Amino acid sequence: MGKIAKGAKCGVEGCLKEASRSLDAGKVTAAGLKVTGARRVYLCKEHYKDYKKASRKEKMIDKWRYGAPTTQRFSP
Ligand SMILES: [Zn+2]
Repeated sequence: MGKIAKGAKCGVEGCLKEASRSLDAGKVTAAGLKVTGARRVYLCKEHYKDYKKASRKEKMIDKWRYGAPTTQRFSP
């Protein structure tokens, strides 16, 4: 996703690893991770993996909501 500042730390409580991803804090919280930060949150590789695992279901819902194939709209 977004670019992160150099030297940024993971935003998960108690984790001091270097961040590798910047994500929406709400989504990360929804995935069950305890993070600090209001809107954007940084995750280290390990926690990003956790997030991906936990958010797989969310992703599917997102697809229904936003990712509906636009081609369908134009088919007869
Ligand atoms: Zn972490």
